[in-house]
Amino acid sequence: MLLWRSALLLAGISLMGLLFQPFFGWSTTLLVIIAGLVGMLAYHLYNLHRLNRWLNDPTPQSIPETMGSWDAVYSKLYRMVRAQGKNQRMLSAALDRFVAAGEAMPEGVVVMDEEDRIEWCNPRSMQHLGLDRKKDLGQHIAYLVRQPAFQQYLLNQDYSQPVVLRHVAGNDFVLSLQLVPFDSTRKLLLTRDITQLERIQTVHRDFVANVSHELRTPLTVVGGFLETLLDMPELDAATREAQLKLMFEQTQRMQRLVEDLLTLSRLENGVEGREERVDTPALLQQLASDAEGLSQGRHTVSVMKETDLCVRGNYDELHSAFGNLVSNAVRYTPDGGHITLSWQLEHGYPVFSVTDTGLGVEAQHIPRLTERFYRVDRGRSRTTGGTGLGLAIVKHIAQRHQAKLEVKSEIGAGSCFAIVFPANRLLEMEDAILAK
Ligand code: ADP
Repeated sequence: MLLWRSALLLAGISLMGLLFQPFFGWSTTLLVIIAGLVGMLAYHLYNLHRLNRWLNDPTPQSIPETMGSWDAVYSKLYRMVRAQGKNQRMLSAALDRFVAAGEAMPEGVVVMDEEDRIEWCNPRSMQHLGLDRKKDLGQHIAYLVRQPAFQQYLLNQDYSQPVVLRHVAGNDFVLSLQLVPFDSTRKLLLTRDITQLERIQTVHRDFVANVSHELRTPLTVVGGFLETLLDMPELDAATREAQLKLMFEQTQRMQRLVEDLLTLSRLENGVEGREERVDTPALLQQLASDAEGLSQGRHTVSVMKETDLCVRGNYDELHSAFGNLVSNAVRYTPDGGHITLSWQLEHGYPVFSVTDTGLGVEAQHIPRLTERFYRVDRGRSRTTGGTGLGLAIVKHIAQRHQAKLEVKSEIGAGSCFAIVFPANRLLEMEDAILAK
């Protein structure tokens, strides 16, 4: 376009000069043509200069105003610059979105260059590895994560499995770090906090060890007696009977343990029990007579019923939880002691509690009583038929009813184990009748 316009202008100037020639002669004609050409050249040079100046800062706003043949050039440039600006804005918005996504990742991400120097890292990785974006960008990763296991992992170049590190940058986290090569030379370092997972694995391992240990003792006793019975068929009837009785006790102990384990596993699997009206005052009476049965006259048992209100819950689960507290009170209260079962409203919350005048528990043990197999006095727990799982079961059942287990105890004076239900589990008498 520019070329055509310039050629046309050149042809026009030459034609005009030739038209003047018959009137003004050759020298004037040539002068006019030269003047026209110089004008054209000056115009193009001036526009070239403006174009060059604009190219230093090529924004659509500062594009020079022109006329004639350069107008087409500038309007093309204007369209190109605008399209380029739009693309750039779209690209930078996409980049911002990717960065924001990386920042929001729940796991740590560190982008490393071909020399394993840090190019970018998200806040979670900074927290995990103690990185500082201002100081540490451009630093070699091995300089910042100094654990020998990581250095070895980096050198080995086999990144198919993560490496587990503890106490990185003085933190208490247990971290899983995995390198992921990308883009042929670069790497991503992914960091994950596996402290909780490790804790669960430890609890699981301890649990399996505890169960095996709990079962091994009665099994050894039964096995030993059976061996004696087999080896000594001439054993007198009284010894034989005594041994059979002991074996029976041990099998009962194993049975109780297996039953408690099954209850715990059912509760932990989260299978929801049927919710119904639980007539707590009636249950209280039944538990009191169970307590008397267990105590066999060694203790006095009383009931303190302050309300006739019922709760919404699963009858079997609540029966089992309350029953465990009652059985503990009987087992951990020396002969002559007193046990009180109460059902009352405390600040609007329904509370079931069992108070005894028994051995009591030292304050430091109280937070751990609901751990599986935690016992203050292992010997007493065993001789009274305990499995070490009772309070763990109570805690689970309380949680399933959004209730809390509260323990108050004084060594030598006695204990109070209370299950505090949320107020919305209370059923008024009318509701109770309707629910029947
Ligand atoms: P266990 O089968 O050993 O009784 P639990 O989980 O029911 O297991 O209780 C855990 C431990 O809490 C018991 O071993 C005992 O030391 C302590 N404990 C529970 N109830 C009482 C209580 N009423 N008085 C004193 N100690 C108790």
